[in-house]
Amino acid sequence: MSRPLSVFLDNGHGSDTPGKRSSFPGLKTLYEYEVNRDIVNMITLLLEKAGVPCARVVPEVHDVSISERIVRVNRMVSAASNDGFQSVLVSVHANACKGSGFEAWTSKGKTRSDRLAEMILDAAPKYLKGFAIRKDVTDGDGDKESNDFSILTKTLCPAVLTENLFMDTLKDYHFISSHAGRVALAEMHVAAILNYKESL
Ligand SMILES: [Zn+2]
Repeated sequence: MSRPLSVFLDNGHGSDTPGKRSSFPGLKTLYEYEVNRDIVNMITLLLEKAGVPCARVVPEVHDVSISERIVRVNRMVSAASNDGFQSVLVSVHANACKGSGFEAWTSKGKTRSDRLAEMILDAAPKYLKGFAIRKDVTDGDGDKESNDFSILTKTLCPAVLTENLFMDTLKDYHFISSHAGRVALAEMHVAAILNYKESL
């Protein structure tokens, strides 16, 4: 039998991070750190309800440096391993650059992270009706791959970074501003994490 799973959740950026916000005239400014934290908090509650051990990497509201977040994740992964658990990390973000839709990123190459990324992408259409699921299928799977995210390359467990729609595109802005939209995004992550857990 495989070891039980513990899930670590990273919410990118902080209240003091420059940029990383929407700016539509006449509409409330949406801050990425707040979107990410709200979704992560919902995921945490849903996983706890499902009996899956989980923890937030950054409980603070202010920005915690990427190097410190990696140190925290790796400390958590080691502690979980000593307790007989395997780990997975999900880093939750919202995108910008006037695109639209959802993306899941992993580090380059075939890794265990790809399995969770695929499960998130498989779950996405059900929860994000009417939004593009932006895939890169050139390497045989749908996740986008980059070695530029150190939270994916320097952490000691499978790790996926999700870009949950675009803050600076009006349709996406409305969805991630709404409670219902955030619930859908949280439920999508949890459905995929539970599938991943079953697959181990
Ligand atoms: Zn971000």
